[in-house]
Amino acid sequence: MIDSHSHTFYSKHAVGTVDELVRASIKAGVSILTITDHAPFTVDRDNRLRLSELDRYFADILQAQQSYQGQIQILRGLEFDYMPGSDVYNRELLDRYELDFAIGSIHYVEVPGEPMVKVWELPRLAGQAFLDRYFADLEALLDSGLFDAVGHADTLLRGVPEEVVLRRLEPLLGLFARNGVAYELNASGLRKSSLDPESGCELQGLWSYPSRLLLPQLIAHDVAFTVGSDAHDPRDAGEGIRELLHALQPLGLQRISYFQHRRRIDVPLGDAMAINMKGEV
Ligand SMILES: [Zn+2]
Ligand SMILES: [Zn+2]
Repeated sequence: MIDSHSHTFYSKHAVGTVDELVRASIKAGVSILTITDHAPFTVDRDNRLRLSELDRYFADILQAQQSYQGQIQILRGLEFDYMPGSDVYNRELLDRYELDFAIGSIHYVEVPGEPMVKVWELPRLAGQAFLDRYFADLEALLDSGLFDAVGHADTLLRGVPEEVVLRRLEPLLGLFARNGVAYELNASGLRKSSLDPESGCELQGLWSYPSRLLLPQLIAHDVAFTVGSDAHDPRDAGEGIRELLHALQPLGLQRISYFQHRRRIDVPLGDAMAINMKGEV
């Protein structure tokens, strides 16, 4: 099993050391794990790695690579925040630290005349002005040339009707393959809450993202896919990945990719699933 999106206590709103996450991932059957704590950023800086912690973060990963050699492949990643104007800041970080995998995610969106929107503020996600800015930011992220994959591009499905998200995403689908950016299938959409469109209540246990309707279009646009649990706790290591891939394979998903030294490696899904079924790592 491949898990290309995971967090440790370095992200501050997540728990578990690198060692604890790795041990839990091995137990869950993960064979290739990329640790992608939130990179330092100018917004919400107390909820991410601090610049002064990066050396220790990478040292912990190196230590785990050595301790668990032969049991699991561990890769060095970071999840970057993308906002307009953040390119220079993020490029400097990317130049300074050698990574296997760089995720670009949108967590914060500046909407004119409103307090900054966080993508987990579900009741605010369906606003027109927000949607305009979110998808403009996503286009800029895809064009930035900085990242290997977009993290949870479809997280808006927690609070926005699927047809609205699809209509807004469709014009951008060509940019993924053209710019060599992978689309992340983020399994946390299977366990996070979402808004019930009828009642407006926040419900648990609904599959919000990724969109099963969008998948065939992404495949038709020759998009590469990464997959991640987005675990913020060792108890969620590898969580949802098997279920997600079993549901998406019949819809045409044929391969999953991961990145090493910022280069994409494709794994046929049949092989990955056969290994998973036997419970081997
Ligand atoms: Zn994220
Ligand atoms: Zn994350």
